[in-house]
Amino acid sequence: MAKASETVLEIDLLALEHNYRFLKSRIKQTTKFLGVVKAFAYGSDSVAIARKLEVLGADYLAVAYVSEGVVLRQAGIKLPILVLHPLPVSFDNLVTYDLEPNIYSIKILKDFLQVAQERGLNQYPIHLKFNTGLNRLGFTENEVETLAEMLKGQNQVKVVSLFSHLAASEDLNEREFTENQIARFEGIVNALVKHLKHKPMLHLLNTSGIINYAAQSQYDMVRSGIGLYGFGNEAAIDAQLKPVATLKTVISQIHTIIKGQSIGYNMAYRAQEDIVTATLPVGHADGIGRQYGNGKAYVTINGQKAPIIGNVCMDMIMVNITGIDCKEGDEVIVFGKSPTAEAFASGAKTISYEILTGISQRVTRLVVDN
Ligand SMILES: *Cc1c(COP(=O)(O)O)cnc(C)c1O
Repeated sequence: MAKASETVLEIDLLALEHNYRFLKSRIKQTTKFLGVVKAFAYGSDSVAIARKLEVLGADYLAVAYVSEGVVLRQAGIKLPILVLHPLPVSFDNLVTYDLEPNIYSIKILKDFLQVAQERGLNQYPIHLKFNTGLNRLGFTENEVETLAEMLKGQNQVKVVSLFSHLAASEDLNEREFTENQIARFEGIVNALVKHLKHKPMLHLLNTSGIINYAAQSQYDMVRSGIGLYGFGNEAAIDAQLKPVATLKTVISQIHTIIKGQSIGYNMAYRAQEDIVTATLPVGHADGIGRQYGNGKAYVTINGQKAPIIGNVCMDMIMVNITGIDCKEGDEVIVFGKSPTAEAFASGAKTISYEILTGISQRVTRLVVDN
């Protein structure tokens, strides 16, 4: 790959393929695989990732909002797309673009049935989500009877799947909580399925669920996001995955700072000795938030660690390159293989998901597939 000459987010589709195959190897061949491509495919490039997943043989895609699904359809993506958090205002577009709604409340079901009637839909695929402990979105077990009643004797919609979402699949200290979610899910499924004309697919596991609970609870499909992008929420799994996104930039300017001088806004850093700094063309407007400043995170220059010093600016950061052999124009790795997005994020006490999805649309995406 050519060295960066500006700030770019490189998206490695071969790494995606590796991660996809790794995750598939952890489930039965007959279990379907849904690739989660919400939030620009975790900050990367949702169209490029969706196309590759389609070629690799994924069964389903998921986005959070209808607008994200529309982008995929306009790019020619043919896979079924589950919209995890549709809002009634976008139901018309959802239907126009052949997207499948997660129906998570009685109100949403009513609203969707009304649109289905107005548009003369027949057996339109919908997915029902149940709240089993995350307390975020979903029907409760108490609503099963009402649901069954509302779905009875209508042909507008067809329930193609029942699902739920785990709250702490990565945390084995919370195994009991997770087992309880699994049991609640199965209870709901048993109560509802007998009222349905067709047997719906069942799915529960996210990436860490696949890692920790595939033996008992993979059902008909699993849903993976972060794993596809190279992170498994534990070191042993991270070691077997490959980061898809690498944020690269370059050294714009090098300064020699004399002991006692300050660096950046508000003199947040004062040199205790003579040091050398590099100014990089990436800042909080690109997604490197102020929490990463003042030594909380480091970047890699010619294989060596250069900590961010002083406050992060809107369009720039300064890093300490004292003792590092480098010059203006050299490439800088903000995150990728080293530091990983997970390591970079942990410096500011956050997680890979946040740093990845926060890289702003100002940063050019460069998709690599070889
Ligand atoms: C985002 C999301 C996922 C993907 O979770 P990962 O931890 O990234 O694998 C799966 N299911 C639902 C409902 C989600 O919102």
